[in-house]
Amino acid sequence: MAEKNHIPNCSVAIDSSDAEDYLQDGLSAKEMIERGDGLTYNDFIILPGFIDFSPDEVDLECKLTKKITLKAPLVSSPMDTVTEADMAIAMALCGGIGIIHHNCLPTYQANEVLKVKKYKHGFIHDPVVLSPSHTVADVIGVKNEHGFCGIPITENGKLGGRLVGIVTSRDIDFLTGDMSAIKLETVMTKLSDLVTAKSGVTLSVANNILETSKKGKLPIVNAQGNLIALMARTDLKKAKSYPLSSKDDNKQLIVGAAIGTREDDKHRLALLAQAGVDVVVLDSSQGNSIYQVEMIKYIKAKYPNLQIIAGNVVTKRQAKTLIEAGADALRVGMGSGSICITQEVMAVGRPQATAVYKVAEFARKHQVPVIADGGIQSIGHIIKALSLGASTVMMGSLLAGTSEAPGEYFFSDGVRLKKYRGMGSLEAMDRKDATGSAMNRYFHSDVDKLKVAQGVSGSIVDKGSVLKFVPYLQCGIRHGFQDVGVRSLNQLRDKMCSGDVRFELRSHSAQLEGNVHSLFSYEKKLF
Ligand code: IMP
Repeated sequence: MAEKNHIPNCSVAIDSSDAEDYLQDGLSAKEMIERGDGLTYNDFIILPGFIDFSPDEVDLECKLTKKITLKAPLVSSPMDTVTEADMAIAMALCGGIGIIHHNCLPTYQANEVLKVKKYKHGFIHDPVVLSPSHTVADVIGVKNEHGFCGIPITENGKLGGRLVGIVTSRDIDFLTGDMSAIKLETVMTKLSDLVTAKSGVTLSVANNILETSKKGKLPIVNAQGNLIALMARTDLKKAKSYPLSSKDDNKQLIVGAAIGTREDDKHRLALLAQAGVDVVVLDSSQGNSIYQVEMIKYIKAKYPNLQIIAGNVVTKRQAKTLIEAGADALRVGMGSGSICITQEVMAVGRPQATAVYKVAEFARKHQVPVIADGGIQSIGHIIKALSLGASTVMMGSLLAGTSEAPGEYFFSDGVRLKKYRGMGSLEAMDRKDATGSAMNRYFHSDVDKLKVAQGVSGSIVDKGSVLKFVPYLQCGIRHGFQDVGVRSLNQLRDKMCSGDVRFELRSHSAQLEGNVHSLFSYEKKLF
């Protein structure tokens, strides 16, 4: 006689042999992947589980590397149209992390790292500054370009110069005549009428000063009276707290930076370490190389506290090399990126779902977290990557159209767009440093006579601010976890390994069915 097995909250008793035979639907992750065909995220679906908790209860804490824990499994890619300081700050505020690209001079990259480490919420650290000899026309230019006109005036027109006044719309609104003939020294509010705060002031004290003084802007000055930052009342109104933000022991936001494996990258690394970078990414499309092994050993010897993300890899064998060398995390993906033509041109790579599962399966045994890099098109893809064993996902295209991504918006056929390009596109490879050398991972000027592009360059639709977009992603992930019936990333991984989370392959028509169909027209608004 078979035992009776009760489903929670259900008065019907189910025969346990039935439960074994019939209730265990679908495939375990291992069974699905071991079938041998390379799978992409779209090739499979996760079967729903049991819900006995709300999405708010889902815990998205995860490991970026052996020693770095994040509150959200989201990483922005080191690409020159995705991550500089603004993106890295926004990602860290939302609980993820940004990796600053290295298609720039080492000093520039180190300065972007410094901006993240020095960031204090509510303070503008790189305000637009003008000098007394600039004109009202210059202020109007700033207003047209940036949308604001509260501009501090320093003697030399630069941040760090001695503060002498401020120009706001009230000073210029009713002026008439030739604006390029009116110097700011004649219209600005002079220092004697300004309220300022001393450097080191806390956010709440600065906030109080702004409230009581009823001013729109609060310049922050050092002991010598030099301008070091600005606070804006409008920003304060928008300012909310970011309880998930990723911070180090000194309460500074954490940030990563990409480097290569050439000799001169050691100098770049020294500047990054000096700026306080928390983690470096060895940026290579095929990371299983003697160059990465040697670089990992060099970094471990010279900067023992610096975490290293090595890669990219897509096979267990590649992973083994880098884990043995001392990598603290692995970046997985070759050929899956939206802008990527590596698989087409090099005939090498691996479908991303299979790559993530295989590498994560191996890395897990060594407690090395895995980042699923490339090919993430939706929240569903994030959940699928995590369900196959990734600890975090790295995104390029998903974040490229946000206001924090480098570059200006432009319009094409009435659509607001930003440029997005592969780091292996001819355009990105053509970016040279001051000495005329190529700066990126896809082009080795000493060896290569001809460039072979591995990426394309294109554009991407405006997605608004990361500060709204990333919380939307997090909320969607929580709902997805609820549907799967898992309360945390750890539980998802455990249940995937034990075979409790079930998967199913999707035929081509199943994929079509799973998308919008049968409509004459529709608008896809996501949040
Ligand atoms: P996406 O999120 O699908 O847009 O993919 C972003 C990822 O593509 C990056 O994190 C890199 O790993 C990869 N990638 C960036 N540039 C190139 C390229 O030019 N060729 C191939 N892969 C690239």
